[in-house]
Amino acid sequence: MELLSELDMMTCPMTYGCKNCGVELAESDDCISRNFRGVHGEAKLFAKAANLDLGEPIDRHMTTGLNVIQLAHCRQCKTCVGWRYGNAVIESEKYKEGKYLLEMQLMVEKESKLGSKL
Ligand SMILES: [Zn+2]
Repeated sequence: MELLSELDMMTCPMTYGCKNCGVELAESDDCISRNFRGVHGEAKLFAKAANLDLGEPIDRHMTTGLNVIQLAHCRQCKTCVGWRYGNAVIESEKYKEGKYLLEMQLMVEKESKLGSKL
């Protein structure tokens, strides 16, 4: 029984919410990579995100070179929780275009309440 419930946990989709106000920002299904680093440490790359306000495009020099990014703020509490990648300068960075980097330190992971949203 314990094994089964563990398995359920692993296959259950998770959502990522703003740590400050709890609003839902992203879903584990949309997570592309778990091996990113943000300003605050561990970060993840998402194909889609929700409830974010994006800032003006800015140039930022990162370990991978120059990136154009837009800072992403929680729409509800205005906390800056990560950024969205704009057009990539380097070919190898193209896959990040339009994707969201969200800081794990600024989010809470919770089980998706699929079906109970209404
Ligand atoms: Zn928030």
